Amino acid sequence: MKIQPKFRGFICTTAHPAGCAQQVQQQIEFVKKQKPLTGPKKVLVIGASTGYGLASRITAAFGAGADTIGVFFEKPSSGKRTATAGWYNTAEFEKAATEAGYVAKSINGDAFSNEIKEETIQLIKKELGQVDLVVYSLAAPKRVHPVTGEVFSSVLKPIGQPYTNKTVDFHTGKVSELTLEPATDKEILHTVAVMGGEDWKMWMDALEQAGVLAEGTVTIAYSYIGPKITHPIYREGTVGRAKDHLEATARELDAQLKKSGGRAFVSVNKAVVTQSSSAIPVVPLYISLLFKTMKEKGLHEGCIEQMYRLFAEELYSGAPANVDEEGRIRIDNLEMREDVQEQVLSLWNQVDSDNLNEISDLEGYRKDFFQLFGFETEGVDYEADVDPDVQIPSIT
Ligand code: NAD
Repeated sequence: MKIQPKFRGFICTTAHPAGCAQQVQQQIEFVKKQKPLTGPKKVLVIGASTGYGLASRITAAFGAGADTIGVFFEKPSSGKRTATAGWYNTAEFEKAATEAGYVAKSINGDAFSNEIKEETIQLIKKELGQVDLVVYSLAAPKRVHPVTGEVFSSVLKPIGQPYTNKTVDFHTGKVSELTLEPATDKEILHTVAVMGGEDWKMWMDALEQAGVLAEGTVTIAYSYIGPKITHPIYREGTVGRAKDHLEATARELDAQLKKSGGRAFVSVNKAVVTQSSSAIPVVPLYISLLFKTMKEKGLHEGCIEQMYRLFAEELYSGAPANVDEEGRIRIDNLEMREDVQEQVLSLWNQVDSDNLNEISDLEGYRKDFFQLFGFETEGVDYEADVDPDVQIPSIT
């Protein structure tokens, strides 16, 4: 069948298998062109199918020659429904990694559950023995607590007072003002339960107890800070509270792992277009202005450039990672550069529906968004019939 993009709000409900495969190949090609890494050899990536997790997996395999296990929550195709993008991405990744001689196995299911943790431990024992890097890159709207069964839902809201600012509908290019009401205490608690560090710690404890962490294991999770204009909705909002918790968990895990020569880090990454970031109000407009500025200055990076830099310059450079006063790795350093932020703020103050196309890179944002689902990708014939039923080799 022919597969076209179909939207429901900021979600695309279809994905193109050939386009997703091509996107994965482009990331692999990028990594293969860089200097090989003396890096991890056996890697578990939790949240491995899209965005920063997928880019971490590709960097580990094709940059450092690592065997990988990826955990994610995706849907295979059924009848005329396409699979989700992360499903197609993983199918292509596994195929390419296996052809290159690396072990690549995957688990599709709820990473928050005890069952998936146990299944992953068994797979590590069978395929890798132990792991020396655990990447925790989940972005989820919901978590069922594995002990209490309580269902937590995360919200993207400010804390304490309402927040009003500009936002863009990137389908229409309309810039409008949006007011978000503050979160209740319960909503804050729920968001921390979903996106904070509790589950990361549960993973690390389970892996440690099962004896599948190699000596000197490194674990890393991803955070974001961003500019003052988005602080009320992000860093000082509900998700920011969750990130505070995640960062505190990193310090706790670091102390725990150091006993066997290991480390735990949080890396603060730059803003990029992913399925998760497109769901945040205000942020897509900021990213469009940021892309314009960073592209003009020759500083633009996507997920794969960020992850390669994280591995090459911080985690596996041979020297200790550079960290800020909170102990965080800052590969958002180019986004946060003073000249970049000054220019973005000046554009932010001017931007409206009339000048949007001229002063922002909304087109670049929109293209990246379509490409997340395998559309608008060079070299793909979108008029051709494609079979949406693609298998991930290790998932039967
Ligand atoms: P993403 O939406 O592209 O990826 C999320 C991953 O989590 C996918 O692999 C998905 O399958 C998996 N997942 C979601 N729920 C799951 C579940 N219940 N069980 C198993 N897997 C599940 O997100 P992303 O933007 O790459 O975000 C990853 C991390 O990076 C997050 O911590 C995010 O806050 C952080 N980060 C993102 C940005 C950005 O601009 N996108 C910037 C800095 C930091």
